[in-house]
Amino acid sequence: MSTFHATALESAFADWRAQAAPKQADAFTDTEPPVMVAYGGGVDSTAMLIELIESGFHIDVVLFADTGSEKPATYAFVELFGEWLRARGVRFEVVRYEPRNFKNFPPYHSLDENCFTNGTLPSISFGFSSCSQKWKIEPQNRWAEAWPRAQATWRASGKIIKLIGYDCSPADAKRYAHREGYDDPRYVYGYPLRTLGWVRQDCEDRIAAAGLPVPPKSACFMCAATKPWELHTFPVELLRRIVLMEARAEPRLQKIEGLWRNGVKGTRGGQPRPGRMTDYIRAEGLLPSAEVDAIRAAAPGALVAWQHAQADVPIAARPALAEWLAMFDMRSSADFDAPGGPAYFSSLDAAVAAWPVSAPCH
Ligand code: SF4
Repeated sequence: MSTFHATALESAFADWRAQAAPKQADAFTDTEPPVMVAYGGGVDSTAMLIELIESGFHIDVVLFADTGSEKPATYAFVELFGEWLRARGVRFEVVRYEPRNFKNFPPYHSLDENCFTNGTLPSISFGFSSCSQKWKIEPQNRWAEAWPRAQATWRASGKIIKLIGYDCSPADAKRYAHREGYDDPRYVYGYPLRTLGWVRQDCEDRIAAAGLPVPPKSACFMCAATKPWELHTFPVELLRRIVLMEARAEPRLQKIEGLWRNGVKGTRGGQPRPGRMTDYIRAEGLLPSAEVDAIRAAAPGALVAWQHAQADVPIAARPALAEWLAMFDMRSSADFDAPGGPAYFSSLDAAVAAWPVSAPCH
């Protein structure tokens, strides 16, 4: 680390510590405010952690909020990086939102399953952020509320220092501007990458310098922020799920067309894209057109029929939505090319009909 970086970070940490210091510390209170990192699994927060840890800054805990809908490459990287952190004595925890009230629906355990259950899209597609609040921020807050260090700090009127990996790129500058000056009674927010003046390329270079692979952009596979080119890197199972999600939600969409809302024309240098990712997937030949048609025509109905079939099954015995999706994922795209049309969904219907429904409770 250069002298400039060391001084800048040390001075930023001193400032965050002063803001977070317990006001009513007694002999039993740790007067050093705990440092927590909200880890997203992407380039920015990975580079931030590498820089801080290799420069000797103490981190008490790193939290990764798993929505259950990240891309396979993100999960692979997070596993690797979790080991990297643990090998350096840094506590690494994966936290999840745990849905509890399923009403008559099959249990779901991820954000995409939540969308399939309700026949909707992530709230970001509607211009809101409750998907992130529910699946990312709340599980982190809940974990902290049960953490003895946090409880002791809050009892002494101190705060936790929470480090966020926003860099100096225009997109992150916008996100930072939304939060700047926000006074949280429990947290002091720190932005080390902004202290360092780093942009994405600096972050990629720092990760490579640590001998680690550069991770892909982290976000749910069906996030509105997904770029068209990223769809070209997705495994076929995720492309199919995107088509299914948009088709399942379609009857309830009034103001937007799909996951990309209403699309953009690509003026001012942007890349044009339709409102529905499905249309892009079809136009680019990422899935055969017949397969897209078959999913759209039959899969949402098959899913709803299966959900209804499980409605009276006691919750303890009710199969999880993941089981239906696993069945959906398993079908080979060759099934769509079978003579006589899309055999896939007739076989899916047959499998649904044969699904072992548990006996009702007595
Ligand atoms: S990555 Fe996108 S879809 Fe996933 S929680 Fe965040 S905003 Fe919502």
